[in-house]
Amino acid sequence: MQKVSVKLKKKVDYSYDIYIGNKILGDWLLDYFKQNSFSIIGIITDSNVDKIYKEKITSLFPKNSRWFTFSAGEENKNINTLLQLSSSLQKENFDRKSLLVALGGGVTGDITGFLASIYMRGISFIQIPTSLLAMVDSSIGGKTGIDTEFGKNLLGTFSQPEAVVIDTEFLKTLPEIEIKNGMAEIIKHGLIFDKDYLLNLKDTDYEKIVKRSCEIKSYVVSKDEKENGLRQILNFGHTIGHGLEKLFDFSLPHGICVALGMLIESRISMERKILSIEDYNQIENILKNYGYLNYLEKIKGLDIEKLFSIMLSDKKNLKGKVRIVLLKKIGRVYNEGNIYSFPVDINEFIKVFQTLNIL
Ligand code: ADP
Ligand code: ZN
Repeated sequence: MQKVSVKLKKKVDYSYDIYIGNKILGDWLLDYFKQNSFSIIGIITDSNVDKIYKEKITSLFPKNSRWFTFSAGEENKNINTLLQLSSSLQKENFDRKSLLVALGGGVTGDITGFLASIYMRGISFIQIPTSLLAMVDSSIGGKTGIDTEFGKNLLGTFSQPEAVVIDTEFLKTLPEIEIKNGMAEIIKHGLIFDKDYLLNLKDTDYEKIVKRSCEIKSYVVSKDEKENGLRQILNFGHTIGHGLEKLFDFSLPHGICVALGMLIESRISMERKILSIEDYNQIENILKNYGYLNYLEKIKGLDIEKLFSIMLSDKKNLKGKVRIVLLKKIGRVYNEGNIYSFPVDINEFIKVFQTLNIL
């Protein structure tokens, strides 16, 4: 037998910058395209964002730009849309020197990032998130992907953009429910990482909020890009949140489910005497003030066995127990060394859901 070793050890720097401000997009693009040239530029957006912004901002992009619009909605974050977009790029002769621009919410960012990472084995892309959720969460961290019939984000890559440009002016047209959706992740950042930030959210403007959330998320992600340890803390509220989303067939928005998940996971932390009663009450109050607790009514009487089995089927959960992130206090998660999530069995869930009057 002969052996040939293929040595592929390489160190690559995937660092990039996030630019944040109000009404910064025009100047930023002008500057960026002065310094970087591309054979052709593809702006990918969904039908809602297209309707509001295409006419307004077309002139901010170079002449060799093309728009590609797909139908809005998570249900379109699938292989069909991906193939349609890829065909459109091929018809327009997009090559390895072209650039994709994701202009939209998380759905647009995920699908565009994924397409860029596989089109001709990978081309450059930038993210221009227009929803609050995408600004503070999905545009940072390099997770890209599409959903399949078996679940969300089951096909995807880790792939980092050239830059993220956040213009908070886009939030002016964002529906209220989508603000709530993003706010849940912002509250999460405060709960797991920064108490002062959480307590001052009400008096702060979006530019500052988005900046702090980006700092927190990018700090966590840069310490643990592939989710082996610390990055798990970003899953706070999400084990139960994702379970609720699926149990209710995605009729409840992600942020609402995460907020309820954070309430229940905080309660578990309190019942285990890891989190103080005072801190728990404060968390409950904050979630109430933002209107999230109104949704408790919608999940009342849920099928807990079904919820538990949905959570169990998640790849991160093993041996009849579900893993959740626990809070130690407001602004700090509980950890044992590099372990940030802990097993919970169905009996503990039932007890806590009963205490919260959900069952
Ligand atoms: P996410 O909540 O992960 O960002 P989407 O990409 O589906 O998910 O965005 C949520 C919804 O908000 C979509 O219907 C999208 O078209 C819409 N949307 C995104 N940005 C804006 C905006 N700036 N103004 C109005 N609607 C927007
Ligand atoms: Zn989330």
